[in-house]
Amino acid sequence: MKAKLLDLSFDELVEKLTAVGLKKYQAESVFVWLNKGYAFEEMTDIAKGQRELLKEFIDIPVSIAQRFVSRDGTQKFLFGLTDGEFVEGVLMKYKYGYTLCVSTQIGCNMGCVFCASHLEGKKRDLSSGEILGQVICVNRMLGGDTQDRKITNVVLMGMGEPLDNFDNVLSFLYNVNHPKGLNIAMRNISLSTCGIAPKIYELMQRKLQINLTVSLHEAFQDKRERIMPVAKAYDIESLIKACRDYFQATGRRVIFEYTLIKGVNDAQADADELARLLKGFPAHINLIKLNPVKETGLKGTTDKEAKMFADMLAAKNMSVTVRRQMGVDIEGACGQLRRKATSLR
Ligand code: SAH
Repeated sequence: MKAKLLDLSFDELVEKLTAVGLKKYQAESVFVWLNKGYAFEEMTDIAKGQRELLKEFIDIPVSIAQRFVSRDGTQKFLFGLTDGEFVEGVLMKYKYGYTLCVSTQIGCNMGCVFCASHLEGKKRDLSSGEILGQVICVNRMLGGDTQDRKITNVVLMGMGEPLDNFDNVLSFLYNVNHPKGLNIAMRNISLSTCGIAPKIYELMQRKLQINLTVSLHEAFQDKRERIMPVAKAYDIESLIKACRDYFQATGRRVIFEYTLIKGVNDAQADADELARLLKGFPAHINLIKLNPVKETGLKGTTDKEAKMFADMLAAKNMSVTVRRQMGVDIEGACGQLRRKATSLR
């Protein structure tokens, strides 16, 4: 199998390409071209003969297979990978620029009952270059390159559990942050996890300035186990302890995601327990209205109910917002698009 150059760090790439006969400055130039999203044949400052030497590698391992544009400007992508698999991404436009939501795995093993990504389990991890490739090809599609970046923020909230693909996700973070690459600041990157507590400690040791987002969705241990099997392995108290320690070590405020499911986790008792759990912790709670996945039979709350739940938390001095829904008309919940594409094959 051909090696994907985007899986390598800058130094590794330069070493590999000088070993096959490129000059050091040419190898460095290949790194920059790749991060701009250019294929080998487009790297016109490298002589044709030298470009031949690159044929044993893969340049951009991700392509845009399908694109849907919402009335509100949100875009949804189906990315094609070199082995015929697909993953999803979402692009959101804000005042300051674009945020891209990328996938880290094909499918997912975490089994959260409300999510479409786990329905067929995890197929495989994405390599770091396949995560980076998603950012690179959308940035190029938007007319950006490494100097004039269009994508300013990245969130690891697409398909998959980033902390279940730890090493590749870390390589991705270092590469997307590389000054000769897209140079996206760590502070502009958010990693979302379902709560693999020991991995939060591993991440903490890297002392990165990324934002940590934890998908909580339930404050009661027994109820959380029912909707998120990961809670059986890492209970809620140890998860919150890990988050508090993470905040202590990095100074970065942790954000908790709470997807409101009608009749499951949206009662006053749930709000009370959530407030108790996070008391005295400078955390922010992001309420999300469930995007119903037909296979699950679960229902989302109304705007009014979401607002009521937010008010219950605010009354207890919690920092809380209801996430603005974007792209509702282009088929939204995580993992649904890939299911559609693969069932068409
Ligand atoms: N595995 C990671 C990141 C991917 S999921 C995690 O669990 O955080 C990204 C976010 O989307 C999570 O908060 C997840 O719980 C939420 N999510 C998944 N399916 C959803 C749905 N149908 N409606 C609303 N949010 C959903």
